[in-house]
Amino acid sequence: MRVGFIGLGQMGSAIAANLLKAGHDLTVWNRSADKAKDLVAAGAHLATSPAEAAQGEVAMSMLSDDAAVEAVVYGENGILGAPALHVSHSTIGIPLVERLAKDHAARSGFVSAPVFGRPAAAQAAKLFVVAAGDGEAIDRCAPLFEAIGQRTFRVGASPSAASLVKLGGNFMIMAAVEAMAEAMTLVEAGGVDRRAMLDVLTGTIFNAPVYSLYGELLVEDRFRPAGFAAPLGLKDMNLVDAAATASRVPMPVLGVVRDHLRSTIASHGSDVDWAGIALAVRQAAGKH
Ligand code: NAP
Repeated sequence: MRVGFIGLGQMGSAIAANLLKAGHDLTVWNRSADKAKDLVAAGAHLATSPAEAAQGEVAMSMLSDDAAVEAVVYGENGILGAPALHVSHSTIGIPLVERLAKDHAARSGFVSAPVFGRPAAAQAAKLFVVAAGDGEAIDRCAPLFEAIGQRTFRVGASPSAASLVKLGGNFMIMAAVEAMAEAMTLVEAGGVDRRAMLDVLTGTIFNAPVYSLYGELLVEDRFRPAGFAAPLGLKDMNLVDAAATASRVPMPVLGVVRDHLRSTIASHGSDVDWAGIALAVRQAAGKH
């Protein structure tokens, strides 16, 4: 399929490489063109603007935040009005998803398809794709989603549905990390090794990828290089808060994890992984 890919950060570059491996005719664009070098060497075409990357059947985007997506869609040489169906993988806010759906509706069409999985999962083509939008448009994307992920979930005809599921899921990841960090700090204060606790829990009733994957990061203090940078995590918690405010849903745990992300960034910098909230939890208990 003739496909464009816009945004070659940690996630985008890995996803785009898998599209190429699956044999798709790929055109890429990134704000900093140097990040396209490896893909171009592997056979991708380099576009000089987002619009140029959206001349095929589908244009997939994977960008940091709302501002980046707005720049690529509505900015100079943006993809609005280009012929390709826009598939947005970025984690962005509900109002922007609704605006994109409306503005693309009369033109090329729009599918919201945020993903679960960190850069290692993206490299291994093991992402989980959560798709929402027009059913026929999602059908057309099936070979692309198969090339980048292990499973695609369809959650509705309204694109914002997928983004809500993604935001809810990211909140649950942060809540799980917070709970693990608090429990590990507690057992360590009593002289028990955090590895021992994790092995018991993931080997019994907490046998789920979120606990084993993030548990390993916590046990080993593996917060750099960041697979998912804390400022992006904070962006997501702010998006959750906006959605909760709009729907009048109290989310008290959200306040806790958001503050821990803020302290972590303030104390440890912007290049720390979002799982680094464990550092804020330990610091509050006087442990370092
Ligand atoms: P990243 O490595 O920081 O990449 C961000 C990308 O956005 C880069 O290509 C960057 O271009 C581009 N960008 C930023 N501002 C821009 C602007 N104003 N105009 C045009 N391009 C702009 O981030 P990532 O980890 O790949 O995450 C990308 C998205 O995936 C985010 O929405 C994130 O929440 C979501 N996500 C991440 C993970 C994860 O574990 N990392 C997992 C699931 C979902 P430059 O190269 O020029 O800076």
